[in-house]
Amino acid sequence: MEARRLAYLEAMGLEVLALRGAPSEAALAPVAAETTAVAASPTAVQVPVEVPAPAAVRAPAATPAAVPSAPKPLAQVPKRSPHPAGQLAWEPLAAAVAGCERCGMCVGRTQAVFGMGARRARWMVIGEAPGVDEDRDGDPCAGKAGELLTAMLRACGVQRDDVFLTNVLKCRPEDNREPEAAEVAECLPYLLNQMALVQPELVICLGRAPAQYLLGTDLPLAKLRGQVHHLQSPAVPVVVTYHPTYLLRAPQDKRKAWEDLQLAMAQVPPLPAEREG
Ligand code: SF4
Repeated sequence: MEARRLAYLEAMGLEVLALRGAPSEAALAPVAAETTAVAASPTAVQVPVEVPAPAAVRAPAATPAAVPSAPKPLAQVPKRSPHPAGQLAWEPLAAAVAGCERCGMCVGRTQAVFGMGARRARWMVIGEAPGVDEDRDGDPCAGKAGELLTAMLRACGVQRDDVFLTNVLKCRPEDNREPEAAEVAECLPYLLNQMALVQPELVICLGRAPAQYLLGTDLPLAKLRGQVHHLQSPAVPVVVTYHPTYLLRAPQDKRKAWEDLQLAMAQVPPLPAEREG
């Protein structure tokens, strides 16, 4: 492994792992072979531009009773007025998010946090919602957690602006409460519109919540990690890992996060994004 990646692994707090267990190309090969079996066909990375309704990305019904804290199925959320998101271009989409008052989370926000990064990125990295730092800075993953995420991405060989980084919810839930299913349903079309524009080849979910929202499951994080999931529309593979905010509290799990990132790299190797003219 090259010296620079070792340095970034050290920044993740994985210097011991890097020296003992960071994979050689040969060591990664079994992972690549294994994930190939569950990977979508090469055509699956061609994400259609059409933005589906939120229910279209839901997987088969899970068992809500198994996890009491899991959000309600989005299908139960009553429809409101037509949503502005769908097939908007970047600028009108950003303007729609900035002025959105479709749910109560607009009341306590400093600003809506749209997301940032490459507009055509191979990797789209998705968290749940802005926290205090993100709400203040307008950065979807700010502060110490943002620094750790940057180190995690650099360990994968990409910079932060080589991916598109955003959250499912664009406004900060007051007191870090769990968003209501209706709030998720109101905000999800913005994310799907973003996905249609970015056309990622891989989605990385940071934490349980964004994975559950996108995959339509109540499975806990422990069962969501370690495998490649697939959104139905757009057809894109999904890898789930820990949110860096959690890793700051539980650094012992950084090793598992690195394993998740290796799985992601084996599925879709990250590359620097194409820069716009
Ligand atoms: S959380 Fe989403 S739906 Fe709710 S006000 Fe903010 S941008 Fe609008």
